[in-house]
Amino acid sequence: RARDRGRRMDIHNSHDEQERRHALHLLAQVPRALDAGEMYLVYQPELDLRTRTVVGVEALIRWNHPEYGLVSPDQFIPLVEGTALIEDLTHWVLDRAVHDSQTWQIDTAPRLAVNISSRNLMSPALIGHVRDLLARTGFPGDRLELEVTETALTEVEHAHHELLAELRGMGVRIAIDDFGTGYASLAYIRKLPVDVLKLDRSFIQAAPDQLKDHQMLRRIVQIASDLQLKVVGEGVEDRRMLDLLADLGCDQAQGYFIARPLPSAELGAFLNDAQGL
Ligand code: C2E
Ligand code: CA
Ligand code: CA
Ligand code: CA
Repeated sequence: RARDRGRRMDIHNSHDEQERRHALHLLAQVPRALDAGEMYLVYQPELDLRTRTVVGVEALIRWNHPEYGLVSPDQFIPLVEGTALIEDLTHWVLDRAVHDSQTWQIDTAPRLAVNISSRNLMSPALIGHVRDLLARTGFPGDRLELEVTETALTEVEHAHHELLAELRGMGVRIAIDDFGTGYASLAYIRKLPVDVLKLDRSFIQAAPDQLKDHQMLRRIVQIASDLQLKVVGEGVEDRRMLDLLADLGCDQAQGYFIARPLPSAELGAFLNDAQGL
């Protein structure tokens, strides 16, 4: 799948010389793109499966490139993650997401989820930035969630787990993204200071048709809830998947069937209208 290829493609591993050159070319333009307003965020709603209300939104970055048009984050995030530039990018995303959220005219504010990289968890800059941001904007820490992929988390050394704990001390929730695509066991996860497990869409999408996936999903949801982790199913593309997740006792669902990622300007209206899903 294109997405997996995107994830794995990095400057050091790409064998295709042309691909490599294009990647470096894109990477070099990221700082300018951030300054020039070529990057923006879209927001994908997360549905609570019991109350059937939108309880969170995930910020996803978009790059409207002057020459190439929309460039997918799968094409440039893996590159940026390999460099110190990911600190600037993550800080930019955090600032923009909090800023955007303060323009939504809504009664009940959803939780705001932002994707971060393993590199962000290995430097103290993130904590300082989050602390300043919350203080500066009055945004409540317990409305912020940071998503880090299962694979990224296994790259973070034990010594850095205290950064996670410190963030949680500010009320921030930590989510493990794309769970099921890496090799982390629930026994390992149990020892980490995390709050949320986001099940990768490959699981969810196979489960309605494949008994093994279905059973595995059931077990994961059960163990996760024993560990007091909230479970979110990603990539819900039809009602069958949504019903299955609800039956299994999953807490939340996210996917095109519920809503596509929406521009900030459209989110307020969606949140005010969304009900009865
Ligand atoms: P992710 O964090 O796993 O985000 C979910 C991706 O799945 C998003 O792709 C979303 O648009 C897509 N998606 C949502 N619902 C469905 C569905 O029902 N079916 C299918 N097939 N796909 C669905 P997107 O926006 O292209 O982002 C791709 C990846 O890029 C993200 O995966 C995340 O790892 C990374 N990314 C995106 N924005 C940021 C960011 O601001 N910072 C960082 N560090 N990474 C980001
Ligand atoms: Ca995510
Ligand atoms: Ca994910
Ligand atoms: Ca992903």
